[in-house]
Amino acid sequence: MRYVCIIVGGGPAGLSAALVLGRAKLNVLIIDNKNPRNQITHESHGFITNDSLSPLTIREKGKNDLAKYQNIHYLENTVEGITDQETYFAVKTVKNLYEAT
Ligand SMILES: Cc1cc2nc3c(=O)[nH]c(=O)nc-3n(C[C@H](O)[C@H](O)[C@H](O)COP(=O)(O)OP(=O)(O)OC[C@H]3O[C@@H](n4cnc5c(N)ncnc54)[C@H](O)[C@@H]3O)c2cc1C
Repeated sequence: MRYVCIIVGGGPAGLSAALVLGRAKLNVLIIDNKNPRNQITHESHGFITNDSLSPLTIREKGKNDLAKYQNIHYLENTVEGITDQETYFAVKTVKNLYEAT
């Protein structure tokens, strides 16, 4: 399947971007390898409505928000490289190749 956008990283930034694009009815793929930089943190602060929650909980809440959008897809994998193919971008993971326009 060819996506309008492939987002590398399923942290708060990637999930937020996917939500905005998904709500615009665009076909989006998030690829994440579960290595958030705040993974040693027990409590996250300063993010309104989510103060004191663990980063993991915030991620799970974010993923739940996306679940109702069938045009937002989530994949656990590592992106190894992205190449410009002129009419699309080829995103290479350990297992597969994905395309984004
Ligand atoms: C110790 C510590 C404490 C922090 N505490 C707070 C806090 O209290 N409040 C706060 O607002 N912020 C805090 N931060 C900052 C916090 O890290 C960010 O707010 C938040 O994680 C940013 O989200 P992000 O989506 O940009 O990055 P991340 O959460 O790091 O997500 C990036 C994602 O991209 C994935 N990824 C990267 N490269 C690839 C690849 N090649 N292929 C596939 N996936 C990939 C990673 O696995 C990761 O899941 C803290 C940071 C640290 C280090």
